[in-house]
Order: sequence, then structure tokens, then C-alpha cells
Amino acid sequence: MDSLESLFSTAQQWLFESAVQPAMFALGLGNLLETGYEATAWFMVGLIQILILLAVVGPLQRWRPVEPVTDRATIRTDILYTLIHRLGLFRIALFFTLEPWFDELFGMARTSGYGTFHLDQLWPGVTDNAVVSLLIYLVVFDFIAYWTHRGQHQIEWWWRLHSLHHAQRQMTMWSDNRNHFLDDIIVDVIVVLVAQLIGVAPGQFIAIVALTQLSESFQHANLKLWFGRVGERLWVSPRFHRLHHSIGLGHETPVRLRREGPDVAGPPQDGSAPLGGREAEPNVGAVKLAGPPQDGSAPLGGREAEPNVGAVKLAGPPQDGSAPLGGREAAPNVGAFKLGGYNFGVLLPWWDVLFGTANFEQRYDPTGIRDQVEQLRDYGSGFWSQQWLGLKRLVGRA
Ligand SMILES: [Zn+2]
Ligand SMILES: [Zn+2]
Repeated sequence: MDSLESLFSTAQQWLFESAVQPAMFALGLGNLLETGYEATAWFMVGLIQILILLAVVGPLQRWRPVEPVTDRATIRTDILYTLIHRLGLFRIALFFTLEPWFDELFGMARTSGYGTFHLDQLWPGVTDNAVVSLLIYLVVFDFIAYWTHRGQHQIEWWWRLHSLHHAQRQMTMWSDNRNHFLDDIIVDVIVVLVAQLIGVAPGQFIAIVALTQLSESFQHANLKLWFGRVGERLWVSPRFHRLHHSIGLGHETPVRLRREGPDVAGPPQDGSAPLGGREAEPNVGAVKLAGPPQDGSAPLGGREAEPNVGAVKLAGPPQDGSAPLGGREAAPNVGAFKLGGYNFGVLLPWWDVLFGTANFEQRYDPTGIRDQVEQLRDYGSGFWSQQWLGLKRLVGRA
């Protein structure tokens, strides 16, 4: 660990002195050298991530793809998003726009006595151990990320932005950064505020972000892979996150209807339920435990358990054997679903298990958003059209 760290520092020093520093002087940015040094670290982290993606995750995608690649153009757009984010362009843009505001805000907070708390100093000798401290911050950031992600899905205007991320029908290891810029800025502001509140050190912060980003890229891979019964509950897998991207299941929660009894929600029989992948085992794909299992049959907090457990929600699939797109004529169920979905976790599936949003079914449905398929809603194909349509959606004009 230490030798890796010193190797990284040496490389950072070298890259900074041989390229970044001279370039900054040439651009008249000599007063920002310290920031440039930090930016060099972010750039290197991004470069390492991209190398790992190309060398490890790419071959995995070719080894066990969920679906064939049919749309290379949309993948190229995702690659552009990835380069913009991981190589630091987005960060540089934020630095010159938001950072001055933050500096002022945090400066004011500090002079009035706030902003000096460090979570890892709660229990000297234990929590300030390097590894323990890193793990604590990782868990806290992930908890915040879970609720942020739920906000993106359940707050209507926020979903109008986040839906761009879900509109990818050809999901690959490049899809993680496919987001609307406004959405990125909001999420970034939350992360920066939390980092200040809990007092994470810059080095640790970079390590946590790097690990999170790499794991996120991996989860988006076009890769048929699950981590096993126990592993699925420890770390978010490609299967876990792909289900979050499924048409219907990933972005809708059935609304409970009282007349159908206390345990059943949504009209599952009319062919309007989530598209795709439901020919097999009609009911298994539809069950959601609203809480921990009550019959002790699933000690790991999961839902492969029998559908008769506790509170069961039915989210579809239709039992009439109609074609995947056949649900469009079935108007009666309008309003049977609300914004929501499953598997909001970013690194740890624990929060989904804890708050009743986990789905551990082994299924690999088509990805996207229902209105893309049913109303042919356009989310844009290129970078600029996606950003522009996102703004239009936000104000209700697309
Ligand atoms: Zn989402
Ligand atoms: Zn995603």
C-alpha cells in the first residue's frame, strides 16, 4: 500500500514538473500551481481507471456479454462523457465556476467555528487508523450516495435530468458518466458539502472517489455476472445495477391498491408491466419484499424467498402471454406505477436491503425507460442533443 502510494506520488511529481507546470506558466496560471498539482493526481487517477477498463473490463464484456453490441454510435457518446469526467475537464470547469463560492462559504463557516470536525477522530487510536478511517468515510459517502440516487428517482424534476442516464439502451462500461451536467453539478455540490462536514482528508477523498468511479464503471459493463448469494449483498454487481437500468423495473414502483388486499399492489395481469424478460417464471420476477423476510427463509435479507413472505408487491409480469410491447393498449392501469425503482445502491447493496428497495433476482432485462419504448420519447443521441433535451425536459418542453 505504502509503496503504491509513493509510486503514485513520484509519477505525479514527474508529470507535474515535466508537463503541467510549464503549461500553467505558459497560460499565465502560475498562481494556481498548488491546484494544478492536485489536478495532476485526478488526471492520473482517471488515466489508470481507463487503462483498467480497457485491459480488464473490456475483455470481460467480450467474454460474457449480456447482449450483442448493435449501436456503436451511442457507445462513442458515452466514451466522450467518460473522458470529460475522468480526465478532469468537468472538474476544471467546476473549479473556475463553483469553487470560488465554496471557498467563500467554507471560509465563513470556519471563521465562525464550523468545519473543523473530522469524523475519523471520534475514537482516537481506533477510528483514525488509516484503513479504518478510509472505510468509515467510504460507508458514509455511500449512504449519502444511496439517498441522493433515490432523490434523483423520486423527485419529479430531478428524474427529468437523471433519466438521461437511464435512457441508454446499449449499456456498457462507458455508461456511468452519461449524465446531465446540471445533475452532475447538483450531485457534486452534495458530495463537496458532505466532505466538508465530515472532514475527509484530500488524499482519502481521492482514493474514495477513484474506487467508487471504477466500481461504477464495472457495474455498467455489458457483462453477465453476479457475485453469488452472499457477494451480491456485500458489493454492487453488474447484475445488481443492470436491474436498476431495466425498462420498468429500474425506474418504477407499483402503487399499492387497497382493494386488492393489503399485500398486493399494481394490476399485474393486464400486460402493462415492465417490458422484456418476463416470459420465464412469471411470478418470480414480480415479487418485492417490502421489508426483511418474516419467515426466516432468507437469512441474508433477500428475496429469492418464496413469494408468500410478508408484504409482497406485484410489479407485473402479465400472465396473459401478450407480447412485450402489447401493454400499450392497456390503458386501465394508468397511475399504477409511480417514479421509483430498485437497487439505488452505488457501492454497497446494504442500504437497499435496509430500506426495502433491493432486488436480487438474476435477470438481465433490456435497459432504458418505458416511455422510450411506448411513446418513442427522444432523449437525444449525441452529446449536445442529450444535454439540450435534458434542459427542455426540465422545463416540460420535451
Ligand atoms: Zn438511477
Ligand atoms: Zn447507472
